[in-house]
Amino acid sequence: MPNVIKHYILMQVSRVDRISKKTRSAVMSKIRSTGNKSTELRLRMAFIREGIQGWTMHPRSIFGKPDFWFPVARIAVFVDGCFWHGCQRVGCSRSPQQNREYWIKKIARNVCRAQEVTMALGRQGCKAMRVWEHQLATVEGVRQTVRSIACQLVREDRAPNHGFDKR
Ligand SMILES: [Zn+2]
Repeated sequence: MPNVIKHYILMQVSRVDRISKKTRSAVMSKIRSTGNKSTELRLRMAFIREGIQGWTMHPRSIFGKPDFWFPVARIAVFVDGCFWHGCQRVGCSRSPQQNREYWIKKIARNVCRAQEVTMALGRQGCKAMRVWEHQLATVEGVRQTVRSIACQLVREDRAPNHGFDKR
């Protein structure tokens, strides 16, 4: 097991111990109410609003089935749920105490898997961009995220609007 994962698990365990019952249920209800779907939708709406085209969602042919895939630029965008990917930012979801071993293992697996996907895509000449759920929580955050994705598209000399034109 890589050291980073071990460290991560230890951090989660020590954090979990400090969470009160009340916080825990608040965290759990937050997880239920903010699934990956709504954050994905937010990004999707922002792409449409900004006129960024040439992407598909969840293509099965691309390893890791990215949330958004720009075939021309070969850029994959993944929206990582803060809970599911063990976001360390203050205020983001923490592992629940009930069945915590199960959750910790599951989250650690997600983190490893995401890393594998990023590396595998890299080997195939694709770029994986990972967006945290919390980055899409505010209007400004969405704007910044879209801007950084657009910059990558331009950097590849494949302007956002030309995704379909060049195919
Ligand atoms: Zn977060």
